[in-house]
Amino acid sequence: MTTHFEAPLVMIADDDRMVRFMVSQMLGKDGIAVCEAENGREAVGVFREHRPDIVLLDVMMPEQDGFTTCEVLRSLPEGEHVPVIMVTGLEDVESIRKAYEVGATDFITKPINWVILGQRIRYMWRVSLMSHRLRESEENKRALLDAIPDMMFKLHEDGTIMDFKAPNDSRLSLSSWEIIGKPVNEVLFMEAPQQAGARISRVLENGSTQIFEHRSQLGGEWRHYESRIVRSGDRGALAMVRDVTERKEADEQIVHLAYHDNLTGLLNRHRFREHLSQAISHAERYGGLLAVLFLDLDRFKRINDTLGHNTGDLLLQSVAERLQESARGKDFFAKTNPGQGGSLMSRLGGDEFVVLLTEIDHIQDAAKVARRILDSLSRPFQLSEHEIFISASLGIAIYPADGQDADTIIKNADAAMYCAKDQGRNNFQFYTESMNAAAFERLSIENSLRKALHRGEFCLHYQPQLDTHSGKIVAVEALIRWHHPDLGLVPPGDFIPLAEETGLIVPVGAWVLQAACEQIRQWQKMGLPPLRMTVNISSRQFRQNDLVKNVSHALETSGLDPKCLELELTESAIMHNTDLAISMLRKLKLKGIRIALDDFGTGYSSLSYLKRFPIDVVKIDRSFVRGLNKDADDEAITLAIIAMARSLNLKVVAEGVETKEQLTFLREHNCDLVQGYYYSPAVPAEAIEALFSSPDSGSTQSE
Ligand code: C2E
Ligand code: MG
Ligand code: MG
Repeated sequence: MTTHFEAPLVMIADDDRMVRFMVSQMLGKDGIAVCEAENGREAVGVFREHRPDIVLLDVMMPEQDGFTTCEVLRSLPEGEHVPVIMVTGLEDVESIRKAYEVGATDFITKPINWVILGQRIRYMWRVSLMSHRLRESEENKRALLDAIPDMMFKLHEDGTIMDFKAPNDSRLSLSSWEIIGKPVNEVLFMEAPQQAGARISRVLENGSTQIFEHRSQLGGEWRHYESRIVRSGDRGALAMVRDVTERKEADEQIVHLAYHDNLTGLLNRHRFREHLSQAISHAERYGGLLAVLFLDLDRFKRINDTLGHNTGDLLLQSVAERLQESARGKDFFAKTNPGQGGSLMSRLGGDEFVVLLTEIDHIQDAAKVARRILDSLSRPFQLSEHEIFISASLGIAIYPADGQDADTIIKNADAAMYCAKDQGRNNFQFYTESMNAAAFERLSIENSLRKALHRGEFCLHYQPQLDTHSGKIVAVEALIRWHHPDLGLVPPGDFIPLAEETGLIVPVGAWVLQAACEQIRQWQKMGLPPLRMTVNISSRQFRQNDLVKNVSHALETSGLDPKCLELELTESAIMHNTDLAISMLRKLKLKGIRIALDDFGTGYSSLSYLKRFPIDVVKIDRSFVRGLNKDADDEAITLAIIAMARSLNLKVVAEGVETKEQLTFLREHNCDLVQGYYYSPAVPAEAIEALFSSPDSGSTQSE
């Protein structure tokens, strides 16, 4: 509709020329323009052409009367809202009724009162403008409402749904008749009717806006919604309801990722600490005991090293499952976490797990759970083609006895776990004060180990290896010793694992290689009989790319013949990434260096597996030698190792030979070399020199 804002354009349709003339004169005086039509049919054409703002229609006209003309105008799109005033005969009640029936806006009677016509038209014009604006704003509002995805419910103060706008989401088909007239609690807030009722009252009392989330079963499916309730009029409210299910699910997903360990799905360290802190606050207020169990798998590193990280990961997942399985037992006290399907259990990282037990009545309840966990882990794990046996060490700290805050309790449970490891693994220990002293000692050892190399606190001792048949010393094994300024002589078992863990083994190992090569060169220069030097290489060292370079450097700077050097490796070192290991061994062998497999029989490798590795010597672990002449199994294993080595053309060294009987057994079964306290422990270099200068220089005293 084109609208003239200054003054209206009026159309007068009347067959009476006089009337048309008077209308344009009278209105023209007031500055109102007029267009004319002689009859109904012409009126329609004039209307279309000029688009008048107001139409005056005489009822009685030739061609087409006023009623029909009004109907025609109303049927045109531009004529739908135009004010139409019918000009009827005086007190012609029937005409007036009919005029309204065909859509006229108003009527005036003949004879026309020319004085008030102008006012009448102006009044009509103002009303028309107002209703035009109202319509426009209505249309805008409707467009706005249609654009809002939310559902809307108009509520009576008693909570009855008075009106409803469906969401513009085709997924949900709700029809008004299902909804209008029902109490809103039945439709929307069935999960929390009281809460919703209170919110609606608040809106009505003080006009505040209430926003809250809830679940509803609209259209049969439970979903998450966010409702905003605002006041609407004096005695009603409007609820705008938005489906937030997707956002909710994404939020939950993010929360899950932020709070859980990816590998096992257990809580992560951060979340566990939060839960523990909450549990502590609760226990502080209401009384009660808590226990934290700190669990570390025994020798997990060896699984990772020998079977690879994928298997290691699988094992960690299975361990997490076993822990949760134990958690479902009825006398387990871990509180479950609704919605997360787990209990208060977390992987802190690596192979470390923690479990929080709440609501325990007695400290012994924690011990029961620990026992149960150890039992469940003792069953074998079947991972792809491997059957794996593991154990774990557990430390327990109790609130309030062993700490007042989450960090202290976790730290103390950790200290207790270390103590369980020291007790021989596969057991659990409760925390005691003294454990922190031990942990402190560990830390201070680590610190002093870092300085030991520069301070020259390491030295090498040498243990002879003798030919079983000739009884001559043919080699010595270099074994590291640490003279700690306060602790005295520290055996390698007490610091090598720590050096491995911290990576310090790399510089320390390089030092050992260098010192051992120089020592044997010095003995050669002193005129001692030819000797081989064997040097231990740890897994971590073996995995260093520059091992070959280190070895070459030591050989070159000392001027030692590579034939005199033998490297002792463990199974775990070479089983980790076997292809890489084989190529590394080949490089070393190309230089002329001998390779020995240390502590043989304690690892995972089958005898036939050895064929693949270019090695020269197998050292039977001393745990088997100890059982010779006593334990039929140990004897059988020893004999099998010797026979296998023979068939693969490898030399065999028996370690830890302590008695004459062991020596005799080994000699009778053609073991090539022996090493052990029976002849000599590891001794300083001068003691080796002394052995050669003694009368029966370099032969076994057992002969
Ligand atoms: P290993 O290579 O198996 O060394 C043999 C260990 O057995 C030595 O212990 C030795 O003193 C001990 N032993 C020798 N004869 C007997 C015996 O008749 N009976 C008993 N019960 N024990 C005997 P040690 O010197 O304490 O070394 C322990 C381990 O520390 C070594 O085991 C080796 O794995 C590691 N280690 C020692 N020195 C080094 C080194 O320089 N580098 C690296 N990476 N590891 C080293
Ligand atoms: Mg060794
Ligand atoms: Mg050994």
